[in-house]
Amino acid sequence: MNNLIDTDKDPMGRAIMDYFSKGKASRLRVFSSLFYEDEIPVATLFRSFDEMPPLEQEAMRVCRGRVLDVGAGSGCHSLVLMSRGLDVVAIDISQLSVDVMKQRGIDARQVNFFDKTFDEKFDTVLMAMNGIGIVGRVEALSDFFMRTKQLLAPGGQLLLDSSDIRYVFENEDGSLDIDLAAGYYGEIDYRMQYKGVRGEPFDWLYIDFDTLSMYAEQCGLLCEKVADGEHYDYLARLTVK
Ligand code: SAH
Repeated sequence: MNNLIDTDKDPMGRAIMDYFSKGKASRLRVFSSLFYEDEIPVATLFRSFDEMPPLEQEAMRVCRGRVLDVGAGSGCHSLVLMSRGLDVVAIDISQLSVDVMKQRGIDARQVNFFDKTFDEKFDTVLMAMNGIGIVGRVEALSDFFMRTKQLLAPGGQLLLDSSDIRYVFENEDGSLDIDLAAGYYGEIDYRMQYKGVRGEPFDWLYIDFDTLSMYAEQCGLLCEKVADGEHYDYLARLTVK
């Protein structure tokens, strides 16, 4: 689970590098067996504080101390936090994204979140834009929480936003097309493509607040909801009990 992305299989990193160096990018295409083909507007990966959704703006206000921006992408959150005087380290598995972040003046490292040899401590671990998605599957949550605990300084917090995607399966009469035997409904397979660069398929987890808190409690973490978003999304703050 400690792997990094090869530059020739990194569509999002390519898109971020293009947008940063040329001021524009082609379409960053997203495929999944559950949804029609979709697109991530590359400009949104470079959003300023004013362009961030309210939940992310709230996350920026709740960050404190030394912050680890996990899966930082273009570094948009790191830059906001740095401008507020916080000490920030950004990690990402994409070398291209890390290169862009370094050029933007961020202390960025190419590190996989799950790599235990990265053993610094942080007052805030930030996982924005459903960053907890990297956990992939519900069964991997315990390992994820154990790893988070290693990264948290005493009194530290994990801040994350995610969504309950049950609305995707909802019929008009309110019933749900969910196969309860097939595992948790928020586990989605994705693949991305940018120009001719195709990424490897990966599992991405969306998790509702109740399931998140149940697993967190089991690992000795207290899970609080900071705010609800506008569409089944929320911002949560987790601390060691
Ligand atoms: N947080 C940014 C980018 C979100 S996209 C934003 O809100 O705009 C998710 C990012 O996580 C990608 O840049 C991807 O390369 C990175 N990533 C995926 N798995 C990771 C892992 N295990 N450790 C660190 N970064 C990871």
